[in-house]
Amino acid sequence: MLLRHTPKEISERKALTINPAKTCQPVGAMYAALGIHRCLPHSHGSQGCCAYHRSALTRHYAEPIMASTSSFTEGASVFGGQSNMLESIQNIFALYDPDIIAVNTTCLSEVIGDDLKQIINRAMGDNKIPPGKTVMYASTPSFKGSHVTGYANMLSAIVQNFAVATGTRNDAITILPSFIEPSDMSEIKHIAEEMGIKYIMYPDTSDVVNAPMDGKFHMYPKGGTTKELIRQSGDSRRAIALGRVGVFPAAQLLDTKCKVKTDILDLPIGITATDTFVDTLRKIAGVTVPESINDERGRLVDVLCDKAQYVYGKKVSLMGDPDTLFGLAQFCKDAGMQVLHVVTGTPAGAKWDRRVKELLGDGTIVKSGAQADLFYLHQLMQNDKPDLLFGNTYCKYIARDMDIPLIRTAFPIYDRMGHSYFPITGYRGGLHLLIKVLDAFMDRQDRDAPEEKFELVM
Ligand code: SF4
Repeated sequence: MLLRHTPKEISERKALTINPAKTCQPVGAMYAALGIHRCLPHSHGSQGCCAYHRSALTRHYAEPIMASTSSFTEGASVFGGQSNMLESIQNIFALYDPDIIAVNTTCLSEVIGDDLKQIINRAMGDNKIPPGKTVMYASTPSFKGSHVTGYANMLSAIVQNFAVATGTRNDAITILPSFIEPSDMSEIKHIAEEMGIKYIMYPDTSDVVNAPMDGKFHMYPKGGTTKELIRQSGDSRRAIALGRVGVFPAAQLLDTKCKVKTDILDLPIGITATDTFVDTLRKIAGVTVPESINDERGRLVDVLCDKAQYVYGKKVSLMGDPDTLFGLAQFCKDAGMQVLHVVTGTPAGAKWDRRVKELLGDGTIVKSGAQADLFYLHQLMQNDKPDLLFGNTYCKYIARDMDIPLIRTAFPIYDRMGHSYFPITGYRGGLHLLIKVLDAFMDRQDRDAPEEKFELVM
């Protein structure tokens, strides 16, 4: 067993992370940039960094991810990356013709102190940026933060660059989702559309990283929010941020820059949080919740009631990204499960830790940041064994060692399909998630049942 040497005894660690529960900032920044139509993500650093960022996304979504790099070698590493960046901008517009280049910095470019604002101004002065095109950037050094903070930084940069308040309000509601799957982005749009609400959502990676195969190569798939719509979000009558750690800076910026009042909600995972989202939409838009949405809710409640005995009282551990984790914690609580541990490598902050504790009570161990790693999670689980683990693909080693099922819900997932296509948000996503949990418990019951207890109907 790969992790059989993890000791049970937990000792204080200050300067060591073992198997981090996160990936690096540019991965999240690239993901956010892909949710903008005709936008090419660009890593300002070495080819190796860009190769890693792209491969993390490519392996998770099983899609080719287009991204460029400043391709630092020794010269740029010593003397700075300005000339590489200027040449990149020229080549990218000449060869790939994006509408936007979304630059994320890397550890290396941050350490040598490249000033991206100055470099982009220089590119403009040198007429390297064609009319109507944009080069924007987000600071995403990976010696701090995680893919979630990288996503948050790029989302803020998108608001900063494109949202404009003209002084005349439109009737759209802007929705800013945290780092979630394209399937979840689709589900959130489905709820808004079903309720007949005019909305602008960004980023929107649906139809980008889950685009259908049509036999042709599309450098820029049909999905993604257009620049024009993002511009109009500055005039929207209200905004809703779905999630906190991955969205709060952008929501705050939209509020201060464009005076768009923003409601900060949790990701709509499970019944309680989805009810809050639907109710907030209903109140802001002044609409009635349609029967179709009530029916979706009713189906989730029905299955929960029908099969409550399989989930009630079950002990679970949660690992992943902070906004998703909060939603999962609420989902588990709704279903009567007992959450033992909540661990995220993202430095989510003391407020996040406190909110999770308030939700789940003092019996739950909550940890975020650098020392909240998979090693620590494994130690916790050895001391108080759960029945089920939620987490990313890397958790499969822990699940195997503990001989418990794993529900793959976080980033990255390299060894299963479905997350890009089937949501966990909204009532329909809640039903999908609940069925995954039920399947895990029922499969386990079948596997372990003695001959005389092996049931046909469960
Ligand atoms: S952690 Fe830093 S050096 Fe490593 S891939 Fe990410 S940006 Fe590059």
